Amino acid sequence: MDKRGKLLVISGPSGVGKSTVISCLMSMMSNLEFSVSATTRAPRPGETEGVDYFFVSRERFDEMVVNNELLEHATFVGNSYGTPRSQVEARLAAGINVILDIEVQGAGQVKALMPEAVTVFLAPPSLEALEARLRGRGTETEEVIRGRMETAAQQMELAPTYDHTVVNDDFHRAAEEIRSILEA
Ligand code: ADP
Ligand code: 5GP
Repeated sequence: MDKRGKLLVISGPSGVGKSTVISCLMSMMSNLEFSVSATTRAPRPGETEGVDYFFVSRERFDEMVVNNELLEHATFVGNSYGTPRSQVEARLAAGINVILDIEVQGAGQVKALMPEAVTVFLAPPSLEALEARLRGRGTETEEVIRGRMETAAQQMELAPTYDHTVVNDDFHRAAEEIRSILEA
């Protein structure tokens, strides 16, 4: 019997509800751990170092890239983001399922490296709903919201390249759908 953990990759436009759905999913599943990414972006109010992200300097991020400490990395609206190998490899080997919240370029890199990864694109019910969520969260400036909405349209085109697309209409329902995908 293969005891390796499963790697679940969630992507989707900023503000679609990835963090919300992932929290819900993690409260429903015991054998699922979140991969904490490194980023050069500044923490938002309420975000915790080592829980939401490892907030690092540009210099430290570049060093992680050079030292091959990252499984994948990408630039997103002016900041760098990457998945530390230390968050993923030992857990999978120990039979723990791991969930990544990463954007589309990173998801493509992971799928190429690990074709057995299960990729899920989380889509909004509409672009209008997406913009309302992004504004409603109240964490970004107008300029950043515009950048993220422009990126969202490009990201949506990549939905068909994922193994599954799940619409985040109701976050609890979306989390249930992802759980059944993972357990299938
Ligand atoms: P992401 O991690 O994709 O950037 P968040 O999880 O931060 O998105 O969600 C963005 C905003 O949308 C938050 O204010 C969140 O409460 C809200 N939200 C998440 N899921 C839903 C949903 N199904 N319906 C309505 N609002 C939602
Ligand atoms: P945010 O700044 O809203 O937390 O995240 C912005 C985008 O970066 C989201 O699409 C999120 O999925 C993505 N992201 C977060 N961590 C990583 C990572 O380690 N690698 C990649 N490629 N994208 C990431």
